Amino acid sequence: MSVFLAKLLDEGEGVDGAVASVIAAGRCASARNWVPATSGNFSVRSGRDQIAITRSGVDKGALSPSDILIQPLDQPLLPGSSAEASLHVRLYQDNPDIGAIFHVHSLYATVIARAHAGDGVVTLTGWELQKALIGLTSHETIVEVPVFDNDQDTAALAIRVAKRLATPAAPGHRRAPGYLLAGHGLYAWGSGPREAARHLEALEVLFQQTIVARTYQP
Ligand SMILES: [Zn+2]
Repeated sequence: MSVFLAKLLDEGEGVDGAVASVIAAGRCASARNWVPATSGNFSVRSGRDQIAITRSGVDKGALSPSDILIQPLDQPLLPGSSAEASLHVRLYQDNPDIGAIFHVHSLYATVIARAHAGDGVVTLTGWELQKALIGLTSHETIVEVPVFDNDQDTAALAIRVAKRLATPAAPGHRRAPGYLLAGHGLYAWGSGPREAARHLEALEVLFQQTIVARTYQP
């Protein structure tokens, strides 16, 4: 098991557990250079209608509890919120089963997203690691990861993302628990922090494998 997953094993329930999980996730992502220069944001559901989420502009590798906001899902963003907090809030509102959302500016996700901005999707198939994504049992499955154009108007972007995710994947395809922003990074989620971390880690490695396979000349 990777350090990323192991750190999220025993952080507990409720607000304190959610805050501890956010701090652990930020530290592990920072160690992998996935959140350079205070980028990225991390949230964990701390109750039915609230989340613990990183505030704007903080180093995700050195988070303390004061860097985490407890954001009610039915209220406007709190002062100090990240510009991207609305992307988290909308996903939680639309999907009661989501318990954690992690967003990173990792290298391979950011590059592959930019390369496929025109397609609007990255498809993955033939990789054993696909089975780390919840519900997938075969490397033969075709996995879709939606790609959106980057947009500094994150409220409008949240609406575009929600509309797209409400539509089914292409026939015979399965949708990944994540999406990409072109030239920007990756959002991944799960029922809790451990599952979100597993999905994040698996997707970044799947993008790496895809890029390396395309450029490798035997
Ligand atoms: Zn970002």
